[in-house]
Amino acid sequence: MVRFLKSKQKVIAKERVKTLLTLAEKSFHKNPERSNRYVELARKVAMKARARIPSELKSKFCKHCYTFLQPGVNCRVRTKNNKVVYYCLNCKNYMKFPFLREKKLRKKKTGTPSS
Ligand SMILES: [Zn+2]
Repeated sequence: MVRFLKSKQKVIAKERVKTLLTLAEKSFHKNPERSNRYVELARKVAMKARARIPSELKSKFCKHCYTFLQPGVNCRVRTKNNKVVYYCLNCKNYMKFPFLREKKLRKKKTGTPSS
């Protein structure tokens, strides 16, 4: 029962993270500060429930400074060696994401996802 509740909590947390990041996206052009606040909340929600932030949402904010990222506004997006590279203009750091299909293939082959 406890385990069930915990997994349920994770599902709820993920939903909340998704909602918060959607809100962050919507308010970005009007109020970037508020977007950053939403990112902060989303991270807190995920941490509290020990849920992982879904990979498709990880590119929404900078993992170094947690600024909400809007491609073309405060981050640059490039592709390189089958990776999507995000360059955060706020903290001048890079984030790299392997293409999803590639990632899945690699997972099947080696059993461990590489960074
Ligand atoms: Zn950053």
